[in-house]
Amino acid sequence: MKKVAVIGSGPMGLMAAVDLLNQGHQVDIYERDDRIGGMSAAFDFEGVQIERYYHFICKTDFPLFDLLQRYGLSDRLHWTDTKMGYFYNGRLYKWGTPFALLGFPHLGPISKLRYALHVMYTKGIKDWTALDKKEAGTWIRKWIGTKAYDVMWKDAFRLKFFEYKDNLSASWIGTRIKRIALSRRDLMHESLGYLAGGSATLLDAMTADIRARGGRILLSAPVDEVVSESGRITGIRINGDFKAYDAIVSTAPIQYVPAMVPGLPSGFRDNIRAIENIPVACVILKLRRPISENFWMNISSPGIDIPGVIEYSNLNPGNRSGEHILYAPFYMPKTHPKWSTSNADLIEEVIGYLPQLNPSFRHDWVLASHCHRYEFAQTICPPGFQDMLPPMRTPLEGFFMADTAYYYPEDRSISESLQVGRRLAAEVGAG
Ligand SMILES: Cc1cc2nc3c(=O)[nH]c(=O)nc-3n(C[C@H](O)[C@H](O)[C@H](O)COP(=O)(O)OP(=O)(O)OC[C@H]3O[C@@H](n4cnc5c(N)ncnc54)[C@H](O)[C@@H]3O)c2cc1C
Repeated sequence: MKKVAVIGSGPMGLMAAVDLLNQGHQVDIYERDDRIGGMSAAFDFEGVQIERYYHFICKTDFPLFDLLQRYGLSDRLHWTDTKMGYFYNGRLYKWGTPFALLGFPHLGPISKLRYALHVMYTKGIKDWTALDKKEAGTWIRKWIGTKAYDVMWKDAFRLKFFEYKDNLSASWIGTRIKRIALSRRDLMHESLGYLAGGSATLLDAMTADIRARGGRILLSAPVDEVVSESGRITGIRINGDFKAYDAIVSTAPIQYVPAMVPGLPSGFRDNIRAIENIPVACVILKLRRPISENFWMNISSPGIDIPGVIEYSNLNPGNRSGEHILYAPFYMPKTHPKWSTSNADLIEEVIGYLPQLNPSFRHDWVLASHCHRYEFAQTICPPGFQDMLPPMRTPLEGFFMADTAYYYPEDRSISESLQVGRRLAAEVGAG
């Protein structure tokens, strides 16, 4: 039996802890925040318990389904036939079905055919190795043409990735296309899932399981330093106290690791520093009425500087009628001037866009507003990213690490976190 410290209580940290307990180890989880969950954490939004960031589930999230089953929670998973819209140049179009594509007036018939073929091809890809080396924009333009790329993708890349927009891995973008394309009831209906009670339904069950088996979860407990001697970890330093451990598993965003783990070789720390990540500021509004029928509305329209809005209540109707939850994420590098504007300004900016998205919108529809920020929300994966990822088993004996970058080529999801959490625990178990 080892004494193991897990850093971070997001889904990855909790999953690693569950498996480490299964292996018979003693586990303490340290969490900087005052609550569990990381990016999946919930908060009290004036009487509604809801996640700081929206979460939908896809039909291919098998590690998540397995865990729900293990905890007897499969019946809490619900599926909705969700609708998608595309707000393009000042007008809202239906999106996400073959008929919507046929009816969209801003692409010619050849472009539409090429667009459909690209999605069909991408959803069948099983081996992403070749696309790991390719640049996403070039790959998409080759399939659908420059004009269609400009109409369908250009603004999405610009508003989500900024200066990184022309240097992204094609496999990383391709897996996003595939994940959504496969989450359908049939050709005509997109089908996305949610957990009754939100992600907390699962995270709370994991927490109860961990505590029942003697695992400890320490909140508001930021690990300051992973301490080591002669190439091997000895423990952690927190609030000036030293605590001894045999193994340490970090699930914190890896950008924290170089400063937190001074015992790592400097070349290894440089490799971590080469991986870039951008923050998110996510506005949440509670509205009297929906803006549209869509769960997801992509936006490419002059003067609107967000890539889309997510009307969460069109996925999960919740228990309270007359309240509609809308999320609007601003992904941006910290160098972006908007990062230094206040949350109140970002909220006002989003509210200012709503009359364009729905001309009947009135300011008194807004019942409550909130904005939450996460510093390392989105890893940026350039071509060749597979070879950039440092190993989870680091050269510092007893120190293991991963974060959302390790889903690659998959995009962020709770399901991927669970899978990577299991891999981390297996690495510890392998000695
Ligand atoms: C805007 C947005 C939308 C999303 N949409 C979806 C979606 O629709 N579906 C989906 O499945 N997923 C979605 N995700 C992704 C999902 O939330 C993440 O993949 C998942 O929560 C990551 O969990 P994690 O445990 O791997 O990491 P994190 O959530 O990053 O957890 C890391 C934890 O480490 C803690 N920590 C950091 N440093 C320290 C330290 N020094 N000491 C102690 N603790 C520390 C942090 O506080 C945090 O709690 C979304 C994320 C965002 C931001």
